[in-house]
Parts: sequence; structure tokens; C-alpha cells
Amino acid sequence: MKKALLIAVLLAPVLANAGDRQPIIDMHLHSYAADRFRPAPDQYGRPSSQSVGEHFEQTYQAMRDNNVVLGVYSSSKKSAADWSTKDSENRLLRGVEDPQDWTPEAFEQAIKAGEVQVFGEIGLYYVGKTLDDPFYAPYLKLCEQYGIPVAVHTGGGPPQAPYLFAPNARLKYGNPYMLEEALVQYPKLKVYLMHAGETYYQEALRLMLTHSRVYADLGVVLWVHESPKFYGEEFLRLAKRFGMLDRVMFGSDQMRWPHAIEDSIQQLNSFDFLTEDERRDILYNNAARFLELDEATIASHHQPDQ
Ligand SMILES: [Zn+2]
Repeated sequence: MKKALLIAVLLAPVLANAGDRQPIIDMHLHSYAADRFRPAPDQYGRPSSQSVGEHFEQTYQAMRDNNVVLGVYSSSKKSAADWSTKDSENRLLRGVEDPQDWTPEAFEQAIKAGEVQVFGEIGLYYVGKTLDDPFYAPYLKLCEQYGIPVAVHTGGGPPQAPYLFAPNARLKYGNPYMLEEALVQYPKLKVYLMHAGETYYQEALRLMLTHSRVYADLGVVLWVHESPKFYGEEFLRLAKRFGMLDRVMFGSDQMRWPHAIEDSIQQLNSFDFLTEDERRDILYNNAARFLELDEATIASHHQPDQ
């Protein structure tokens, strides 16, 4: 008995250390083509990556440093090709942004070629559309048919968005209820709400309550600014109270700032109202279930050297 106790005491620091290195899935990353990449400080004045090359390297390194074993990145056609070839450690799943540069035929071919793992980030707020807009219909049909998850931006965006870069942006289109018609039209469609609704966090939870296959990622509500951080904390407290934490997934939305990956993990870990098991579910288990990872992949993610 004494010997067992001694071994437990000796092992404690090792196990604690291993616990720190538990795997993480980030459901919300971005890559950019060079002509769309503008270096700029974040809202706290910290610099972004300075080029697309540096952006990939710093994002990938932040994933390694924080044991982010898998990340879904939203991409255009150009930026996706770049990141796919550089993904030497198989850490990335490709998300396809709003299909401006696709046709449904090309999209289906890409799905068949294994080049589309997620359809998104779809920016309903930025383009002023609902998910049941006819523009999305052929893509949603294919996603439902092939089991491709759909990732939709919810909540608002940066200050002055309608005047600076998104003339059709209106906050009402960031409401998760803008997805509801499409959810009913495509009853097998797998969907997650990026940013967990942000200012519409209660609507996000209500939608998730009605449509029990809908998940949420945390995105900017873990780091970008005090206002989304407030919504994020309230969302998590209510999700816990309502028994819905098992459909909440970690996402950083690192955009041009790879340091946001670590900031977001730290913010989540700072919530003392979450248990260790709940944090594990949010950081890994819920996303593994949502993405339907097989047992071998999950086991490989739990290897110490990941
Ligand atoms: Zn995003």
C-alpha cells in the first residue's frame, strides 16, 4: 500500500505534465492568398504575421507548441493549395470559404478528390444572406449527400465593416436563426455555428436546443476583444447550465494573428466554472465526435510526441 502511494506521488508530476500536453482540435483557422493578406496589429496592438509565408509558419508552430493536432482552416482556392502542400505533419483539414470561385460541379469533384473536409467559413453576416438563399442550395445539397460539415459565421464583425469592406454586412444576418430554414430543408446536414453566436449567444443555444445536431465553435469569443469575450463566457456558463457543453468545440479564429491560438487556450483554461473533463471535451472530444474521427486517428493524437 505504502509502495503504491509512493509510486503515485512520484508519478504525479509526470502525469500532470502529460495532462498539459493533451491533444487539441482547433475548428477555426484561416489561410489567405497573398493578394488578400494585409499585415495589421490586433485590437491589443500586437503585430500580425508580416507575409503569407510567415503566417503559415507561425500558425503551424503555434499548433505544434500547443499540441493542436488538427485544425480546420478556411481557405480560398489559391491559399488552400499553398497550405495543403506545406502540411507535412497532417495537421490540417481544408475548409472551403464562400463559393464565389466555385461551381457546384467543381465543388463535387473536389469533394470526391478529398479536397474539401468542411464547407466554410460561410459569412452570412458579411454578405447579407440567409443560409437558405438559393445561392447556397446546390452546395448544401452536396454537403448533405457527402457528409461534409458546414461552418457558418455567427455574430457581427470588426467595427465599421459595412463601410470599409462589406457593404452588405448587417448584424441581423449574424443571428443563428438565419440558419434555421436550411436546417429544416436539409435534415441530415452537419452544421456548426462559428463564434457560438457572439452577441446572439442565447439564440445560438436556443437553436442548438431545437436542432440537436448543431454544434458551436468558440472562435473570436475567447480572445479578440472584451465584448466578444463577455459573450463567450456567458455562452459557456449557460451551455453548462443547460447541459449542452457536449456540443461546444474549441476554435481560435487566429486570422492573421497566430498568437491567438495560445491566447484562446489560456482563456478557456482560466474559466474555473469548467471542470477538467468539460475542458477536455471542448478542446478535443466534441470535435473528434463531430468530425467522426476513427479510433486509430484518435489514438495517434494521444501519442506523447504529437
Ligand atoms: Zn473566422
